[in-house]
Amino acid sequence: MNLIFDGHNDCVQRLQEYLPGGIDFLVRSCSGHLDLPRAVDGGLKGGLFAMMAHPEQPPIDDLTVTETGYEVRLAVPLDAVYARRTIRQQLAALKQLEARADGKVRIAKSTDEIAVATDVGSFAIVLHLEGADSIDADLLELEAMHDSGLRSLGLVWSRPNIFGHGVPFAFPRSPDTGPGLTDAGKDLVRACNQLSIMIDVSHLNEQGFWDVARLSSAPLVATHACVHAICPSTRNLTDRQLDAIRESDGIVGVNFSVCDVRPDADLNEDTPLDMLIRHFQYLVDRIGIDRVAIGSDFDGATIPAVIKDASGLPNLIAALRASGFDDEAVRRITFDNWMRVFRLTWAQ
Ligand SMILES: [Zn+2]
Repeated sequence: MNLIFDGHNDCVQRLQEYLPGGIDFLVRSCSGHLDLPRAVDGGLKGGLFAMMAHPEQPPIDDLTVTETGYEVRLAVPLDAVYARRTIRQQLAALKQLEARADGKVRIAKSTDEIAVATDVGSFAIVLHLEGADSIDADLLELEAMHDSGLRSLGLVWSRPNIFGHGVPFAFPRSPDTGPGLTDAGKDLVRACNQLSIMIDVSHLNEQGFWDVARLSSAPLVATHACVHAICPSTRNLTDRQLDAIRESDGIVGVNFSVCDVRPDADLNEDTPLDMLIRHFQYLVDRIGIDRVAIGSDFDGATIPAVIKDASGLPNLIAALRASGFDDEAVRRITFDNWMRVFRLTWAQ
């Protein structure tokens, strides 16, 4: 069975250690997309686990259906104290899971630790922060999170914070939706480079992307995004952005979210795998076979029913093979390419 490493999931939001009444990761569940038994069934050996603070009050009426698609009003900034408390709870939840998993789940902080986990049959969690809303401009919290094992960070989710401006969800629309990084955001990029924390450009608007491209000494990484030329949503990457990712020797983890996969952006789980494979093919042609990977968005998006959950990943692999990717290409896409970029980024 293929080894698979995934660039993005939101599973922490559902863990019983974080959410009262949430799922036990070690036990098979019939809801959501990811738990250990289903990961084992699908060949999933680990992934970037996103910690992300949702607003205290869910927004109302933020979606507008337009003649050609949709627009979501940009989320309001989070209170930093609330965000920090929430992220610390999520970090604690993942550590508690690791502590009670009896070696079956390990938080990995290096490619060596991922390799060890994979060798002994443990599931590897890499800690990712989706939106730096919990971090103050003095960046002390960044250092504390790094000490706690954080190895990957997106400066923004789709909302503004002191570092930059997230891209509002909209279709069809360019990701060029506002100003770039603030001075604090530029400092955060430099600090991440210094600490060897991987920077994720997913959810950044285009100006912010170019600021990261200009400032960062690490490969450009989009942990979960698709191709704007196929599905012109604001969350997807334009050809110019893809070319910059190629030039930096970076990577794109292909997002399974049907709104970003389908050319019509319809929120329809009855989405054929061909539509998803088209993104893989386009990316391989444009940025090269070493720079394309998986960024499922498990537990964070509506994904094609034919994949259904982590146990359905072999269906994706079969579709990749059927469309002409050989064993070597599939191995790179499903595992090796993430390790390549981690090695380049974390070794700095
Ligand atoms: Zn996301």
